[in-house]
Amino acid sequence: MNDELDDMYRDIILDHFRSPRGKKPIGKADIASDGHNPSCGDDVTVEVEMADGNVKDVHVDCHGCAISVASASMLAEAIKGKSIDEVKKIAEIVKKMLTGEIDAIPEDAGDLDSLKGVRKFPVRIKCALLAWTTLVEGLKNYESGLGTKTTTTTTEEQ
Ligand code: ZN
Repeated sequence: MNDELDDMYRDIILDHFRSPRGKKPIGKADIASDGHNPSCGDDVTVEVEMADGNVKDVHVDCHGCAISVASASMLAEAIKGKSIDEVKKIAEIVKKMLTGEIDAIPEDAGDLDSLKGVRKFPVRIKCALLAWTTLVEGLKNYESGLGTKTTTTTTEEQ
């Protein structure tokens, strides 16, 4: 690995890749969405159980490269216990950080900060965004009353 890759695959990312969070199935999925990243071949399923307007539990199942798996794992950690509005805000911050619109992310975002290294590799940004894009699609359905209808999203430009 060269220096840049060392930076990209920092210990935190590798830790999430090796033992992804959110693997455990959840009781009932109020939000369910599948996502696919054709440019790398990553696939993800995001399921969220809601209770009293907050995220009660999260299940993510990602098959793909280290970046996509690590980002999905971080998502599972980051949104648990949060309200829909907070979840949207986190997703927006992650997107802005990955696309370089903002440099710093809030300190309480924890491990998400480690995804910053991905910016040096534009082709991998979609890998890091996959789980988040998928989550946002699921949220849209949830809010528009489509509920648990599973939709499939893609990182390809429409
Ligand atoms: Zn990937």
